[in-house]
Amino acid sequence: METTDKYTIRKQNELVILEEIIKSGPLSRAELAKICGLNKATVSEIVKTLIDRKLVTETGIGTSTQAGGRRPIILQFIAKAGISISIDVGYNYIAFMLTYLDGSIIQEHYQENIKIDRHNVCNSILDIYRLCKEQAPPTEYGIIGIAIAIHGVTLDNEIIFTPYYDLNKLNLVEIIEKETGIPVLIENEANLSAIAELAYHSHFSNLVSISIHSGIGAGIILDKELHYGKNGYAGEIGHTILFPGGKACPCGNRGCLEQYYSEKAILERFSLLNWEGHQSSFHQIAQAVEQNNEETIKLLKETAKYISIAINNVNNTYNPDVIFLNSELIRTIPSLLETIKEELTCFMIDDIEVTSSSLGNRAILIGATYLNIQHFLGIKSLYFSKEQIYNN
Ligand SMILES: [Zn+2]
Repeated sequence: METTDKYTIRKQNELVILEEIIKSGPLSRAELAKICGLNKATVSEIVKTLIDRKLVTETGIGTSTQAGGRRPIILQFIAKAGISISIDVGYNYIAFMLTYLDGSIIQEHYQENIKIDRHNVCNSILDIYRLCKEQAPPTEYGIIGIAIAIHGVTLDNEIIFTPYYDLNKLNLVEIIEKETGIPVLIENEANLSAIAELAYHSHFSNLVSISIHSGIGAGIILDKELHYGKNGYAGEIGHTILFPGGKACPCGNRGCLEQYYSEKAILERFSLLNWEGHQSSFHQIAQAVEQNNEETIKLLKETAKYISIAINNVNNTYNPDVIFLNSELIRTIPSLLETIKEELTCFMIDDIEVTSSSLGNRAILIGATYLNIQHFLGIKSLYFSKEQIYNN
């Protein structure tokens, strides 16, 4: 049907123009027309709709072209049109971030030493929602969505498998949407970290972000899209078998990588070393290294060796442009990254950048923010600038 096609094309053009204003703005209608390959009349008509929807504003007068003529009016995305809530639900922490539509942070909070389970998770999320609602500045669209990071496998907005807390098959989205009346998205934490890297490094089309937390998971971006596999298990590298017949894993296999070298496993193993600190934290591990504690150094060398095997396997499977590592242990002990790199001896990884994520433990929440805003605006890709995130 011709009218439907016209409508679809018009809608697609609207999204392309909005995405370009967010990415390259402030810019003029003429510049937009040139970049998007559309005629000026179409651009003007669409820009009017975006201005009416209070997503774009005219901010001022630009400089005239060399040929002279009228100086163009400049357009800008209204980042303060709405508010996004992101919540990271770990098995022993819960964190949230309240942002505007450009990812700039209004508020963030991290609560540790809390045990999350299927009985308290909904109330914990609803408490955060109420707090955010109270503190959110007034905006045109209000709270546009709640994006929740799950430390486990998710697919099509459903929880599939959570080995370190019992959220399996919990109908989280429906419960929270019913209580709040706001769209809820859920996504795997490693996938969100990968999306966050893409938001800041839009020049990469293929990247892998390896998250080493309670488990070990990889978010895989191929041609700028998340790769899930049939059941959402793509990137579950923590369940690749390192030692056949080894320790039992909740996935049903034995000897999985994450049973030995997730941060949770390393902390447990460090606590068994009876180091004089008697506590088990990354800071304590760093102290033991500084004091040349032989057993701790041996544990870290072994960790570097086996994590490098995982990285090698990821490269030989996906050969991405870059591999980001998201690990609090590596952030606390940066020399661990160098040791991991020394173990990467295959020539096929020589020109692949392997680096620690600069987003730190914010990566998951930033990825969730991206997902929320992308879903609300309906656009394909978003671009965050570091200044936006940190200068607010
Ligand atoms: Zn496993």
